[in-house]
Amino acid sequence: MRITFNGAAGVVTGSCHLFEAGGVKFLLDCGLFQGSEELEELNPKFTFEPSEIDFVILSHGHLDHCGRLPYLIKRGFRGKIYATAGTIDISRLILMDAAQVQEENLKTENRRRLREGKKPKELLYTIDDVFDTFGHFKACDFKRWYQVGGVKFRFHDAGHILCSEFVELVVEGRRVVFSGDIGNSGKPLIRDPELPPKADLVLIETTYGNRKHKSFKESVEEFKEAVLSTFKRGGVVLIPTFALERAQDILYILKEMYERGELPPCKVFLDSPLAISITKTFNRHPECLEERVLEELRRRGDLFSFPYLRFTRSVEESKKINDYRGRAIIIAGNGMCTGGRILHHIKHRIWDERNSIIFVGYQAEGTLGRKIVEGTRKVKVFNEIVKVNAKVYTINGFSSHADKPQLLSWLKEAVGHNTKVVLVHGERKVQEVFKEEVERELSITPFMPSLYESLSF
Ligand SMILES: [Zn+2]
Repeated sequence: MRITFNGAAGVVTGSCHLFEAGGVKFLLDCGLFQGSEELEELNPKFTFEPSEIDFVILSHGHLDHCGRLPYLIKRGFRGKIYATAGTIDISRLILMDAAQVQEENLKTENRRRLREGKKPKELLYTIDDVFDTFGHFKACDFKRWYQVGGVKFRFHDAGHILCSEFVELVVEGRRVVFSGDIGNSGKPLIRDPELPPKADLVLIETTYGNRKHKSFKESVEEFKEAVLSTFKRGGVVLIPTFALERAQDILYILKEMYERGELPPCKVFLDSPLAISITKTFNRHPECLEERVLEELRRRGDLFSFPYLRFTRSVEESKKINDYRGRAIIIAGNGMCTGGRILHHIKHRIWDERNSIIFVGYQAEGTLGRKIVEGTRKVKVFNEIVKVNAKVYTINGFSSHADKPQLLSWLKEAVGHNTKVVLVHGERKVQEVFKEEVERELSITPFMPSLYESLSF
């Protein structure tokens, strides 16, 4: 078999691995490169002809794993995309949102480019291409074997986001495991990652291959403390968060606080149409939920609702939040404050020292979120300078990704006598650290492919 790494090789985004094996050609994931202009320029490039790909196996609904599927179809792919039903539901929402955001951003960018005398950029794909993608999805059950040509495969729970999978394949008499993204243990809604079978070849993600997270439990305590002390000051809490998984974890923690009598009367605004849709998707996929919450879902039919919660879908409802003067928690996207409704709330609330902003996710360099976390005293929002007087909290243990010890113990399960290990989905400097750890603990030197490099196995 031959594998060509069309993404997530030495970088985190763009997950897309071409397999030529068992008499067919298929892709594991077809994700978008994100994070910088240099990376985004790689999006149109494939080392293969999309019309010659027989099928795709999709690990989960994050954009860096599913985000190039509409482009693959636009370029002539005609096969099926296999994933769990939950991953398909999430991918539909994420892809529709991404196409809308890309169209809006490109309009603004192209106006700027024209003013600078540059050629306008083209969209990678349109909303119509996203609709075309929906017809290619084929829902699969966890654990059941599927076969296409000489390739057998089945899905196991990766515990990363709702219904995320890792994939076990049998092809040419050998067993291959592709990790997708492996989850962090101890999250409230979804199960911990399952352990992989022994394999001949393992492709493992390495996003946090160089660090150890604080435990989820400790982070929940920090979070509660931050909320309650803001309320004691008479302030409002802002929580910038991405719409998928973290938003639902936070909602669920707040709902549990309410049920235990720990949350004083307040309004909790989920101010993101995408996050609202994804929250409802959780209720539709009991097959992916932790046993404890499953029981609750059966009993109540809904995991998240409680009397203080308000969903604000429309722009008008969102704007009204600015005038709300009572105790409130405002959850809005996006998670790194580079766009979205959170910017309006920052503009209206961050100057007031009674308020606070709680960061519950990673803040990449260069983002507004990172500047606030690093203690800047002033920010520019919508061309207006606003003073940062609100208290800033950063809570690090809510990650959806396994950390180094978790990745290593997962990998140990998959490694047998003669296993080849390939490190994907990680920054090179992080992978160097993880590689040394694998060499020390497992006496194996993993392979770290470069972008577009091939491996014969
Ligand atoms: Zn992911």
